[in-house]
Amino acid sequence: MRVFGSCGIVYPDAGSYTAEDLYEKADFALYQVKSKRSSGVEFFSADHEKILSQRYLIELELQAGDFVRELKLDYQPIVDLKSGRVVGYEALARWDSARFGRISPDAFIPAAERTAVIGRMTRILFAQALEALAIMPKHLRLSFNLSARDICDHETSMALLAKITRSGIDPKRIEFEITETALLSDFDTADRVISMLRAAGIWIALDDFGTGFSSLSHIHRLAFDKLKIDKAFVMNFDRDARCMNITRSVANLCQNLGIASVAEGVESEEIAEGLKAIGVRLAQGYYFSRPLPLELAIEYAARCDGAASARNSLSA
Ligand code: C2E
Ligand code: CA
Ligand code: CA
Repeated sequence: MRVFGSCGIVYPDAGSYTAEDLYEKADFALYQVKSKRSSGVEFFSADHEKILSQRYLIELELQAGDFVRELKLDYQPIVDLKSGRVVGYEALARWDSARFGRISPDAFIPAAERTAVIGRMTRILFAQALEALAIMPKHLRLSFNLSARDICDHETSMALLAKITRSGIDPKRIEFEITETALLSDFDTADRVISMLRAAGIWIALDDFGTGFSSLSHIHRLAFDKLKIDKAFVMNFDRDARCMNITRSVANLCQNLGIASVAEGVESEEIAEGLKAIGVRLAQGYYFSRPLPLELAIEYAARCDGAASARNSLSA
């Protein structure tokens, strides 16, 4: 067994600080070392100060409660590489704040988790997702991201199930995407919640597979319906043989387990063709489409259907 250590240090400048302020800054610097998954020493810097104060402002804005009206979802098409048709969408949260402009979900979702408004935010966004599903053609499915806090919270998952029942939407059209970090905080609760959702007919997809822990024991212990191959591999697929081999191996693993796989972050035709050649069936990324407002996303699917039908009648 090897033991590693990490340390965060703050040098107080001329300003006056409470012990709590200093502790928070040193802790933030420590977190930066840990998030790089390395050991070492990090000093609290001016850049850290900027990130911390932005974080603080976002948390305050979330607690004010007005964000509800400013939240919406965009929809990124997921394409069947063989037929060229859209099979569904991933719903991605957007926050256009009147005060700060557009804030990235990478910033506001963690802030919502820290301030415990995530459950409320998830319910609001999911209600929008169900309204969208009611408008979309019936053969299209929708993937919705759940945060670590949601999947370990029985109350939120029960509320989501109740919303599905009330909406009359077929649960088989819904997928929840979760990351492995969600499983680490409370595996047993996550396991129970996932089993309950799957029993209702909802699919569970493991997001960002290949980064983080990528534990085969998680795949073994929890019955996932789909793995999403992380864009870090897919984006370098044509330049880096190892990325291609990893992508191919994950796609094979899914095939052997009888579960679906999706490659995310497809940005070029070469990558889309390469993925098709190694047997990946589903893909999403800027090459096909950026996340779109609902109406444009539905139009995009109709255009793909039209082009696929034209190809079929030409080849017939
Ligand atoms: P994610 O679930 O991995 O979502 C995919 C992210 O990759 C999205 O960023 C999407 O816009 C981006 N993306 C899609 N295609 C491409 C591509 O070809 N190239 C590149 N470079 N990027 C691509 P976005 O929308 O900024 O979302 C970031 C993350 O925020 C998501 O990562 C997800 O973890 C989280 N998130 C988004 N919406 C929600 C939500 O409603 N609930 C929760 N809990 N998390 C959400
Ligand atoms: Ca996702
Ligand atoms: Ca992802």
